[in-house]
Amino acid sequence: MLRKELQLFTFKDVLEYFPLRHIDKTIVTPINAIPPNTDYVQCAGIITYTEIIGEKAAKRLVAQLKDNTGTLELTWFKSISWAQKLLAVGNPYLVYGKLTFFNGKAQIVHPEIEAYTLEKSDGKSFLEPIYPSTEKLKARGLTGRQLGKITAALINQLSPKDIPENIPDEILQRLKLVDRYSAYTYIHTPPNPAAYDAAVRRLKFEEFFIAQTRLLLKKIDRHRSSSGVIFEKVGNFFTEFYNNYLPFELTNAQKKVLKEIRKDTANGRQMNRLLQGDVGSGKTIVALLSMLIAAGNNFQSCIMAPTEILANQHYEGITKLLNGLPIEVALLTGSTKTAERRRIFEALANGQIKLLIGTHAIIEDKVVFQNLGLAIVDEQHRFGVAQRGQLWKKATIPPHILVMTATPIPRTLAMTAYGDLDTSIMNELPPGRKPILTTHRHEGQRGLVMEFVKEEIAAGRQIYIVYPLIEESEKMAYEDLTQGIQIVQSYLPEPKYWLSVLHGRMPAAQKETNMQRFVNKDTQIMISTTVIEVGVNVPNASVMIIESAEKFGLSQLHQLRGRVGRGSEKSYCILLTGDKLGKEAKKRIETMCATNDGFKIAETDLEIRGPGDIEGTRQSGELNFKIANIVEDKAILEVAKQYAEYILNEDNDLTLPKNSCLKQFLLSQKGKTLWSKIS
Ligand code: ADP
Ligand code: MG
Repeated sequence: MLRKELQLFTFKDVLEYFPLRHIDKTIVTPINAIPPNTDYVQCAGIITYTEIIGEKAAKRLVAQLKDNTGTLELTWFKSISWAQKLLAVGNPYLVYGKLTFFNGKAQIVHPEIEAYTLEKSDGKSFLEPIYPSTEKLKARGLTGRQLGKITAALINQLSPKDIPENIPDEILQRLKLVDRYSAYTYIHTPPNPAAYDAAVRRLKFEEFFIAQTRLLLKKIDRHRSSSGVIFEKVGNFFTEFYNNYLPFELTNAQKKVLKEIRKDTANGRQMNRLLQGDVGSGKTIVALLSMLIAAGNNFQSCIMAPTEILANQHYEGITKLLNGLPIEVALLTGSTKTAERRRIFEALANGQIKLLIGTHAIIEDKVVFQNLGLAIVDEQHRFGVAQRGQLWKKATIPPHILVMTATPIPRTLAMTAYGDLDTSIMNELPPGRKPILTTHRHEGQRGLVMEFVKEEIAAGRQIYIVYPLIEESEKMAYEDLTQGIQIVQSYLPEPKYWLSVLHGRMPAAQKETNMQRFVNKDTQIMISTTVIEVGVNVPNASVMIIESAEKFGLSQLHQLRGRVGRGSEKSYCILLTGDKLGKEAKKRIETMCATNDGFKIAETDLEIRGPGDIEGTRQSGELNFKIANIVEDKAILEVAKQYAEYILNEDNDLTLPKNSCLKQFLLSQKGKTLWSKIS
């Protein structure tokens, strides 16, 4: 039962099944003194009656608990027969649960309940853990409280040698952390609140520290053992392009990242680098220059983009930039025709094509390179880890890997989810960009917004209007869009104004045509669903209108806004919403209006949504912390990281006796740590 319901398989699982909260058993609230806005409450009294009422779904057991101040109703919709057996009219009970009101009457539905004995009311102050339980378990009488008893019994059987220390003593001393055995004991059965807090602090630190140590070991191991392709020189293509073709001066951030990449690709180890740069910081040119280094060393390279639109755009942009340089570039997407596909496969296999640009079509098995030296993933959050992994297998010596993010990743998340990668940050936009002015407008102000759009178009600018993509129903999104088009046309009629339309259900060729018409300025307005979210680059567009902006997540809003402000013109982002906004939506809109800084936005996003929900985080273990939380426990994470670095800097194989407890622990966690070179 425990197994199936709670996934508790081993003793260790039970130990790590931490209590939700503790209740102080000495605090029993008199029924008439329960404040109406109470959440959880504990009362004690006598059961005066029990009764089954209602039928079928509404069938329930109602009981009344009476103390000498008043009465409280207890209700069970489930586990009725169990509760009926437990409750004896006239006997005293201690109940605990969430207070709700039904027909104006205070009640607790499915309370934790047990016989109220003298032992419980002897006035000794102690905290009782409450564990999360399930309805099914409750039906068998296994409430959170019972679970607590089982755990307490198990803990009683344990001695310190059963829960050996895994943090080097030095750290325990410095941070004044309790030992591991005490921590596990205190968290389940705390003698006092301070002991409980100390246990929590220790276990949170442990969780982060072990995770950081593991990530660092992975990185150390990769640096030490993974042999990579060597790009011996910068090469002619790079030099020629840099001196004669590059249309602008690189920003300092771009130069810095290129140096990092250059270093990584020359030292004989495989590069595995995460490039974080805000929207519009110019990641594409960094990618291209890196690919030119590969080509100059006679290696092939590829760049994988999440959408066809983006792949097409990269292809066009790059071929234009390379104009005249003798490098063969090819585009491979889902809509590449069979004959062309066959030609590409051949030219890749014989090494003729040096640069392959495409969608995930490029990771298919049929795509075989002669010597892939560098693989780049653009907007990596759109791809799964497994998809990225496919790229590694495309060459006997694994190619250098550069993954580029669409929006910055909050620091804590980067530390935990990508801690084993080397990271480059581009926190600088190309010069001359004017900050985008973001405003919030309500539905009722649409007329004014459209007047503004007319002015911008008259000044030669172009406009995006984006509708949310409702994931559950593309049909509905399409209907919204169709309706939106009509509304827009009523304000901005043809032939004075021309529209391009883009949505997910459109055939690729039509998407491409419509996009091209906008790029060529044949149309002034691009109206679309979020298919244009990532990467699209039309510098003449100066206004981004986001319809139903309250329905978008923060990073998505920031991405969309990043479609404008790419030229030298002043740009605007207008967030259109309904009148009523939820608390979180309001916070998102406010954040957008307040800052253009993607790094700040990423932090706020993480705060609002919590770590489980951020796009592009790995599914694997790294983020499944049992007790620690990367948002609330940021400070502990920073410290844990520093200590992991400190330990491994001094002893990167963990061979020193003082670190043996840590090493033993990591070894006991089979499969989680890479030990090929250490043991
Ligand atoms: P992102 O980082 O969002 O992928 P892009 O690579 O699409 O950004 O670049 C955005 C725009 O900035 C492009 O039009 C690009 O040509 C331009 N750009 C990139 N680097 C520079 C630079 N150093 N100076 C001026 N413009 C630049
Ligand atoms: Mg980009």
